Amino acid sequence: MEAIKAPRGTRDVLGDESWKWAHVLDVCRDVARDFGYSEVLLPIFEHTELFSRGIGDTTDIVEKEMYTFIDRGGRSITLRPELTASMVRSYLEHGMAHQPQPVKLWGHGPMFRYERPQKGRYRQFQQVDFETLGAANPLADVETIDTSIELYRRLGISNLQVLINSVGCPKCRPVYRSALQNFLGDRLRDFCETCQDRFERNPLRVLDCKKPGCRELTESAPLVLDSLCDDCRVHFDTVVTGLSRIGANFRTDNRLVRGLDYYTKTAYEILAGELGAQNAVCGGGRYDNLAEAIGGPNVPGVGFASGIERIVLTMEGQGAYPGERPATDVYVIAVSSDASLEAVSLVHEIRSVGISADMDYMNRALKAQMKQASSVGAKFACIIGSDEMKSGMVGFKNMASGDQELIPRDEVLVRLTA
Ligand code: AMP
Repeated sequence: MEAIKAPRGTRDVLGDESWKWAHVLDVCRDVARDFGYSEVLLPIFEHTELFSRGIGDTTDIVEKEMYTFIDRGGRSITLRPELTASMVRSYLEHGMAHQPQPVKLWGHGPMFRYERPQKGRYRQFQQVDFETLGAANPLADVETIDTSIELYRRLGISNLQVLINSVGCPKCRPVYRSALQNFLGDRLRDFCETCQDRFERNPLRVLDCKKPGCRELTESAPLVLDSLCDDCRVHFDTVVTGLSRIGANFRTDNRLVRGLDYYTKTAYEILAGELGAQNAVCGGGRYDNLAEAIGGPNVPGVGFASGIERIVLTMEGQGAYPGERPATDVYVIAVSSDASLEAVSLVHEIRSVGISADMDYMNRALKAQMKQASSVGAKFACIIGSDEMKSGMVGFKNMASGDQELIPRDEVLVRLTA
C-alpha cells in the first residue's frame, strides 16, 4: 500500500522551522501590546454567507478558492479564507460597538484557499491579522500601516516596498469603474481571457493582472486617484501626510486594487524581493462597508494581514534571524546501568528550576552520549558512573572549553544557576 502524504498545498512545519514561527508570533504579541491590540481566538470555520457577502461574490476567493461543504446539519460551512470578516462578525456579535472606540483586535491561525500551490503560496497558510474597528479617521490607517512596518522592523526584515493607493468609496468608485470600462472596452480583445472575464464583473482587477501584455495595455489607463470624491481625496492626502510625518518609506501605486471587494479608500501592500512571484508579505486597507455587508450597522474598519510562511521565507532570505534555534542547556550522561535512575532524577531536578535538560534513553555508550550532548547544543554535560554514584559526585563538563571537574552532586544546581 502506498504511504499517505500530506494534501497538495499543505506543509508540515518541522522543528528546524517551527521555532522561527514561534519567534514571529512572539514579536507579533509584543507589537500588539505596544500598539494596543487585544488578541482574539476565532473559529476556523464560519457560515459560508459571511465570506460570500463580506468578501464579495465576484472575487476569486469566493468564486474559485473556498473550501465549502455542507455539514451534517445541512448548513453551508466554509473553512475561513481570511480573518477580517470573522473579526468584524465577532465585533458585532459581542456588542463591541458599545465599548469605547476604536476596538483593536489581533489574531492568527490557518487560512484556506484552493489556489495553485507554488513558492510562498499554499492552500493552507497561516496569517497574522490586525484590525481596528470603529474609527473612520485616516490616522487609524496611518497607525495600521505603521503597525505592520514596525512588525517587520522588529523582525529584522529590511528592503520592503510599501505601496499605497485609494480604491474610493461607493460614491466615487462607480465613476472610476465606468471611466476604466470605457478605456478597456476599446481594447478588450487584446487582453488575456481572465481580464476579459473581469471586464464586466470586476474591472478594477484588470489593473492587477501580472501578464506583461495586459500591463502594457493599462499603462495609460485612467487613474483612480483622479476620480476620487472630496472625502476620499482628503482621506488619502491625510494618510500620505501622516505616513510622511512618521518617516515611513512608501510610495503610491495606482494599480493597487487588492483581490477583496470590501476595501474602501486606503488599500496597501508590502512587497519583499526575496519572495519571487508571490511577493506580497502583507496586504491591508480600509473596509468601511464590510460590517453592513454582513448584516450589521455601519462600522468603519482598517487592518492588515500578513502570511507567516512569507515572513519566514523573507527572514531566511535576508538571514534576519536573531539568535539560534533553542538548544538543550544540560545533557546528563549515565555511564553505568545503575546510574540511569540517578540521571533521571538529576534531569528532573534541573528541569524543575527552569533549565532545559535531557538524557539518553537508548543505552548508548559514553562516547555516543557525549556526541549526542554536542549535537543538542548542550552547554554542560553531567556525567554519572558507578564511582560517582558511590562518592556522591558528578563529572561536570563545560562543553565549550572541554574542562571537566568532579563536583558534589548537591552542587550541580548551584553551579547551573550561578
Ligand atoms: P490577503 O488576505 O489576500 O490580502 O493576503 C494577505 C497576506 O496573506 C498576503 O500578503 C500573504 O502574505 C498571505 N497570503 C495570502 N494568500 C496566501 C497563500 N495562498 N499562501 C501563503 N500566504 C498567503
